[in-house]
Amino acid sequence: MTVNLYSDTQTLPTAAMRRAIAEAPVGDEQRGEDPSVNALCERVAALLGQEAALFLPSGTMCNEIALAVHCRPGDEVLADVTSHLIHFEAGAPAALAGVLIGTLPGKRGIFQAADVDAAARPNTRHAPRQRLVSIENTANLGGGTVWPLATVAAVAQAARGRGLSVHMDGARLMNAVVASGTPAADYGRLCDSLWIDLTKGLGCPVGAVLAGGRDFIEEAWRLKHRWGGAMRQAGILAAAGLHALDHHIDRLADDHAHARILAQGLVGLPGVAVDLDAVETNMVYLDVTGTGLGAPEIVQRLKAHAIVVGALSPTNIRAVTHLDVDRAGIDRAIDAFAAVLGR
Ligand SMILES: *Cc1c(COP(=O)(O)O)cnc(C)c1O
Repeated sequence: MTVNLYSDTQTLPTAAMRRAIAEAPVGDEQRGEDPSVNALCERVAALLGQEAALFLPSGTMCNEIALAVHCRPGDEVLADVTSHLIHFEAGAPAALAGVLIGTLPGKRGIFQAADVDAAARPNTRHAPRQRLVSIENTANLGGGTVWPLATVAAVAQAARGRGLSVHMDGARLMNAVVASGTPAADYGRLCDSLWIDLTKGLGCPVGAVLAGGRDFIEEAWRLKHRWGGAMRQAGILAAAGLHALDHHIDRLADDHAHARILAQGLVGLPGVAVDLDAVETNMVYLDVTGTGLGAPEIVQRLKAHAIVVGALSPTNIRAVTHLDVDRAGIDRAIDAFAAVLGR
């Protein structure tokens, strides 16, 4: 059996999730008549401390609809230089919302209120109008790092002081919640909009949920229709989400423990650099410069041992733990790395 640590998106729906999908009550989602979708949206709105929520096909659509609702073309969004918005959404902030992204120099994906202040522009006809600050929690390229609540609060205060709204890309917010013990609603109440992905650590096949104030979600609904994200009997997807909220949140702690064990198992290998302090949730980033092998080469050799990880650059490898990888799989991954890197 292959141990797939490529991403936490690699999970397959469990037998129990498939039963929940099969038994879901459904209706016409885009007319507001799908009971499973409605239940999921109510539940996520409450979970995130917001008035309302909207079921969408993907996290990317959550981010892009949020940008388009908050901003007008030509506006500027402030986000960490490593953010998913910049690197992995096919240029959508520019193509769909017409915004430019001003990059903030965070540490492991986490910036400070002072960075927002330092990025402030004069209110002149020459400057783009700044409209939004986007926070990624956990920060993916930062290493799966968790935003301390106090940092979010300080950033939100700095943003609002300059008339900017606050958006949270919470693709892995529940990992942050489980790792920090901070309730999701405590993060949510500091934000004007935020979302969770159902297809990352939560183990669903499709879907993400965007939450915000009632007016924000009303406008987001319009874009969901315009961009082709309105669905029909989507309750079969929402049922997976409801199942995941019941059964797949607390267990994220296992993924975090597995990531730590993996990181500790790899840190001593010749030529491998792992920043153990950055391993806060379910991701392990390795710098393999010192091995003399390229990251793609190592990834290829690990495949022969039935271990799948991702090369994020010529020198960096990422491994992500999730509900389809158990402790035995982690031990096998450590052994395979040791074999490939010749301890
Ligand atoms: C995966 C991810 C997204 C996009 O979500 P999709 O469901 O893949 O579209 C956005 N932000 C972050 C931080 C992510 O990890």
